[in-house]
Amino acid sequence: APALVWFRDDLRLADNPALTHAIASGRPVLALFVFDDGDAGQRRRGAASRWWLAQSLRQLARAIAAKGGRLILRSGAASHVVPGVAGEVGARLVTWNRRYEAAAMAVDAGIKTALTADHVVAESFSAALLREPSTVKSRAGQPMQVFTPFWRAHQAKGEPRAALPEPVRISGFAGAIASEDLDDWGLEPRSPDWAAGFGAAWQPGEAGARARLLAFLDNGLASYAETRDRPDLAATSRLSPHLRFGEISAVQIWHAARLAAELHQPPGLPKFLSEVGWREFAYHLLYHRPDLARENVRKRFDGFAWTNDPAHLLAWQRGLTGYPLVDAGMRELWRTGWMHNRVRMVAASFLVKHLKTDWRAGEAWFWDTLVDADPANNAASWQWVAGSSADAAPFFRIFNPMAQAQTFDPAGDYVRRWVPELAGLPAGAIHQPWTAAAADLAQAGVTLGVTYPRPIVDHARAREQALAAFAELEDVE
Ligand code: FAD
Repeated sequence: APALVWFRDDLRLADNPALTHAIASGRPVLALFVFDDGDAGQRRRGAASRWWLAQSLRQLARAIAAKGGRLILRSGAASHVVPGVAGEVGARLVTWNRRYEAAAMAVDAGIKTALTADHVVAESFSAALLREPSTVKSRAGQPMQVFTPFWRAHQAKGEPRAALPEPVRISGFAGAIASEDLDDWGLEPRSPDWAAGFGAAWQPGEAGARARLLAFLDNGLASYAETRDRPDLAATSRLSPHLRFGEISAVQIWHAARLAAELHQPPGLPKFLSEVGWREFAYHLLYHRPDLARENVRKRFDGFAWTNDPAHLLAWQRGLTGYPLVDAGMRELWRTGWMHNRVRMVAASFLVKHLKTDWRAGEAWFWDTLVDADPANNAASWQWVAGSSADAAPFFRIFNPMAQAQTFDPAGDYVRRWVPELAGLPAGAIHQPWTAAAADLAQAGVTLGVTYPRPIVDHARAREQALAAFAELEDVE
């Protein structure tokens, strides 16, 4: 009787406790992925995530086959499919790695109950995070609301568990069992192929994740603390989509970074590990607040007078706000499925504060277009930018997109790359073309309002209006 390994957000062979456990049972192993998008109250994956999923599953199927095993694909409600496949092959053991969205946890709990009732052993493992989110608590035993004490408490618990090696061989289940065809799931765009640029930017799958990690440890970690806020440099790890799909684990990253920095502890190391810590914190928040992507943590924000102008939202989505740094970020997102963190903060703040658009509209757009769209990180980050979470940036600290651009894209190279119609402008003008000298505009071939939009809102006025709306909110309470 085989052991069934149910893959979900853990599309890797190394450091995969569910897989390792199934192999160690000595039974033949069958790997299963279930496409159950939108089932049982779970959020439907966004379009960019579907693209990534398709690539990642192809890589996983190949990697499993190369070890002697087999991945089968099924679609439908996991609550039927998983016990169904277990029954078809007569599995006595089913394993999986845990996930932390409430709807998904409810599905898993139901399946565990059903399997146990059928006398099938169901076992789940901790694999996605450095620690289970329930184990980090305040001194009073409460969930934590603020990052710094959370991260301190997290680290005080000691080193994360050791990473598991990749299995040498998978003794595959040899019986007859049908698999669906990935191409029938329609995960990839046909025409127009908006994901055409994704393939050049990314190598989805475990091998690509490992290559990305090694390149970052060699070239990025030492200077990470100084350069991580610079979108014009390739200074961060870009591991986020790989982490999102579990092609690499936070535990593997943690130990590899520690080892790489053993000889000369670079200042980048604690900074980098604390960013991985922000991911732990976001999952801690999501675990304790399942509605993190839907409800303001601070209820006072429920009364905020959003303008929600659809034309403004569209201009933001298309990268046509007239603010070059915001537009560069939104276009980087559209073309590659990813945006630099500093620019995510500026673009998100601009939507919420300058355009007075409900953060949930921005969260939904990011959910659809990011290859790293993550139920915890995305929701927690949007609430942080909007000012509506417990640990948020205060609402009155409104990013100035021009000042941010001058500090973090000093020569304008990031804007030149993603907003090519401004590429000919000098550094002094590229971040606010409406102040450029007529001769500079003419030489660069820029006609404001024709080749590139004028600002859709005036920075100073928008700022005042946002602050006024916020002040009203406090008056209400
Ligand atoms: P690095 O700087 O190399 O960091 C390493 C890893 O740490 C990242 O891969 C990521 O897993 C984690 N990390 C880094 N910063 C954060 C952070 N602020 N919060 C949580 N985890 C972090 N990240 C996502 O993974 N998915 C999202 O959907 C997402 N949405 C965001 C939305 C907004 C509005 C903002 C401001 C940030 C969002 N982030 C999200 C966080 C952050 O921007 C990305 O994790 C980061 O840019 C990924 O690039 P990297 O892998 O090169 O990061």
